[in-house]
Amino acid sequence: MEPEPQKIEPEEESMPNGSDIRLKIKAQESAIAELCRKYWLVSSPPHFQYSVEELAEDYGLDVKAIHKVVGQNCTATGEFTQCAVCGVKIVYRNRTTYKQVKSYLLNEWVCRDCYDKRV
Ligand SMILES: [Zn+2]
Repeated sequence: MEPEPQKIEPEEESMPNGSDIRLKIKAQESAIAELCRKYWLVSSPPHFQYSVEELAEDYGLDVKAIHKVVGQNCTATGEFTQCAVCGVKIVYRNRTTYKQVKSYLLNEWVCRDCYDKRV
């Protein structure tokens, strides 16, 4: 029997500074993994350590490309923020989602599915 090819599941990393982010990096290249970490690095919620403009300049990409690369190569979920109805953990689509949640909805976030059911 052939041995099963080993599937490497990306590890979830807990981000520092009480950011309430767990990062799952799918990228193999370390430069991209690094970019994902920098993109989601919070100095203190809801503020990020590096601006997207800064990252764009560092990596020689434009701002749109940064969002795209990060979106494709990692998933940022909440560590403590979950849906008030079904309990699913929040997935931050981008920094805007994160800032919205951290600014207004911290205690009462409802996921898209439950939100749609309510209406
Ligand atoms: Zn829900």
